[in-house]
Amino acid sequence: MHNPRTILKKEKILTGDRATGQLHLGHFVGSLQQRVKLQHDHEQTILVADLQGLTDNGYNPHKVSSNILNVVADYLAVGIDPKKTTICLQSAIPALSELTMYYSNLVSVARLQRNPTVKSEISAKSFGRSIPTGFLTYPISQAADITAFRATLVPVGEDQLPMIEQTNEIVRKLNHIAQDDILVECRPLLSKVPRLPSSDGKNKMSKSMGNCILLNSSEKDISKAVKSMYTDPNHLNVEDPGQINGNVVFTYLDAFHPDSAYINDLKDRYQNGGLGDGTTKKILEECLQEILKPIRERREIFMSDKSQLIDILRVGSQKSQEESNQVLHNVKRAFGLNLF
Ligand code: ATP
Ligand code: MG
Repeated sequence: MHNPRTILKKEKILTGDRATGQLHLGHFVGSLQQRVKLQHDHEQTILVADLQGLTDNGYNPHKVSSNILNVVADYLAVGIDPKKTTICLQSAIPALSELTMYYSNLVSVARLQRNPTVKSEISAKSFGRSIPTGFLTYPISQAADITAFRATLVPVGEDQLPMIEQTNEIVRKLNHIAQDDILVECRPLLSKVPRLPSSDGKNKMSKSMGNCILLNSSEKDISKAVKSMYTDPNHLNVEDPGQINGNVVFTYLDAFHPDSAYINDLKDRYQNGGLGDGTTKKILEECLQEILKPIRERREIFMSDKSQLIDILRVGSQKSQEESNQVLHNVKRAFGLNLF
């Protein structure tokens, strides 16, 4: 099996986010930081996945439409540069929907039901017997997104690994039908924090769960979130030895603090007794305030010029249409459907 942290010299990168809310700290450490670095030496496309956002919000489309520009502003605020990275909108690229239709003939319902991420999301969302067809089949649409850009590398969080696996299955099936390598297999790229938990430590931080520290959280909200973080419930007195495992404050210090030697020293002191949760939380709060302040300020400036954000999406989507139409053409030919 390949190492999910290997990067080759020149990669074709496709990644994206559902337009279901503003981006949060999980996105930042799970994928955004990597994208900012990768954009310099690789060919990167980022997709604002509005159609995928609709798969569990069909009856509440405003949630998706109202968040498209929020996501673009978040990208720019963390340092994604539209001159280096193509930023595009899923619904503005018809080839993605067409490819989804072709690929859906190659994937069984049972295979979709076995996808562990889809399975756990279905149970978390309490769809009961009313699972939207689009939701069950979103791994196929994600395969269309990835293959349409001939992506070789996909920077994602851990929950997306089953999608990459399903994408590569589709690639192999289609190449077999075409008797040619018309589609390219891809590899995931995980960051050092592939799954950031929420403050209570129970779930993944997720837009849909409303358990997020957003990239534009106010100073007050950051402070409140850190103060409420789950630590070691048995660490009652400062002098008691404390547990690091499952202690969300230390999970976050590992994820965000730039000085790992200092954090290792803190861990020793905490485990030996003599370090209180108030102190560790104060260190974490200072660190998060420092990271998020400039992002929040930049984001506000980008959000004040919405026409600039729309232009970025328009230009990126036009470029992406041309690229994905090429792949669609080859897929149609594989099915013998290219009479004219
Ligand atoms: P939703 O709840 O609507 O599904 P989300 O918060 O899960 O939203 P997505 O748009 O589904 O965010 O995910 C975009 C990318 O960010 C994916 O690659 C995903 O793996 C990554 N990601 C999301 N949340 C986290 C997290 N808590 N830790 C690490 N990576 C994450
Ligand atoms: Mg998600």
